[in-house]
Amino acid sequence: MSQLSYKAGQLHIESNNLSALAEQFGTPLYVYSKSQILANWQKFRAFWPSQHKLCYAVKANSNLAILQLLAQHGAWFDIVSGGELKRVLAAGGSANQVVFSGVAKSEAEIRFALEKGIACFNVESAAELERIEQVARALKTRAPVSLRVNPDVDAKTHPYISTGLKANKFGIAINDAMAVFRRAHTLNHIELLGADCHIGSQIMSDAPFLDAAKRMFKLLERLQEEAIELSHLDLGGGFGVDYEGHATLDLENYLQGVIDLAHDYPKLTLMLEPGRAIVGDAGVLISKVEYIKRSDDKQFVLVDAGMNDLMRPSLYQAWHDIVPVRELTGVADGIVDVVGPVCETGCFLGHARHLNVNADDLIAIKHAGAYGFTMASNYNTRVRPAEVLVENDRAWLIRERETFDDLIRGERLIAEE
Ligand SMILES: *Cc1c(COP(=O)(O)O)cnc(C)c1O
Repeated sequence: MSQLSYKAGQLHIESNNLSALAEQFGTPLYVYSKSQILANWQKFRAFWPSQHKLCYAVKANSNLAILQLLAQHGAWFDIVSGGELKRVLAAGGSANQVVFSGVAKSEAEIRFALEKGIACFNVESAAELERIEQVARALKTRAPVSLRVNPDVDAKTHPYISTGLKANKFGIAINDAMAVFRRAHTLNHIELLGADCHIGSQIMSDAPFLDAAKRMFKLLERLQEEAIELSHLDLGGGFGVDYEGHATLDLENYLQGVIDLAHDYPKLTLMLEPGRAIVGDAGVLISKVEYIKRSDDKQFVLVDAGMNDLMRPSLYQAWHDIVPVRELTGVADGIVDVVGPVCETGCFLGHARHLNVNADDLIAIKHAGAYGFTMASNYNTRVRPAEVLVENDRAWLIRERETFDDLIRGERLIAEE
């Protein structure tokens, strides 16, 4: 992240000293750069003409202040639950700028979204389409709908997205799609608006994206032949973030490719759903070293952040760069495992790192802005971290650290007889 740099031997985010933030707000602490979030947003905006929509995928980082910031900059939102719709509304967003994805929407979620007037349901199965028709009929309204198609992008050419294929639970298989579109077109309480796809996450090459886009435009052509006209095409998110510092996605090439494909459809609105690419590199997790533990063949750095705070390393062996907050002089000698306090062998933040730190030092885990706090849990009865947003030398506490009382709220002892 360009907003992270050492000044006078101390790691800063924008003009905020991370040691000072740790002192003020405690650790573990998530810190996000407002300037970086907006720079990431503007990068998409620059390549995407203004008649096309950018829907921020709320699940990447759903803090109200971040949703507020993006709403103020014209964002639409992609949500995957009724709870996320409530967040968007609480942050000042508008329901009519929300698209609702997710494979197992409940009847209550569908009703709530219809009552609030969302822009579109991204429907993931034929059964869901029928359920939305029923709920809309009961409410005497029409539900705006897009059908999510699984374009089955070839795994052989793109093994890194091998989960985004026919076999997965998301979307309607492309070979079944025509039949479901025909059905949607005939239903009285469905307003068929669009088609969408989302082929996976953390994708670093534009090739699979372009493959999927071509298949989606093919589908539009076939629909047109049957006089089924769509007003939008939503190509989802999944834009990779450069965690390891050596590869970047050629976003401009991809977006230009899509705009070229859309050339024959001047009335078609295009949509994207970036999540990680907007917030991933805009956040760090600050943690304090509690102890150093040496055994015969290993050295552990035991820190106060664990898998409950940042789950990605444990869940997907994700690699996050870890750096000391006090700038190192000289070369790190030892190789260490950076591990957290949770009682699981899988609770680690980084294996086999060159990192010279001592007890009470602070470390920064980089690229922690996406799927960090939103995946945090209270496992081991640990409170979730505080979150801070910074800009220049200002810092706003945007979520208080939880308290023990927050954790046990709603729990009940059984009454004594
Ligand atoms: C998660 C998700 C996104 C965002 O994915 P990123 O990899 O964070 O860009 C977009 N669309 C849908 C349907 C999703 O489920």
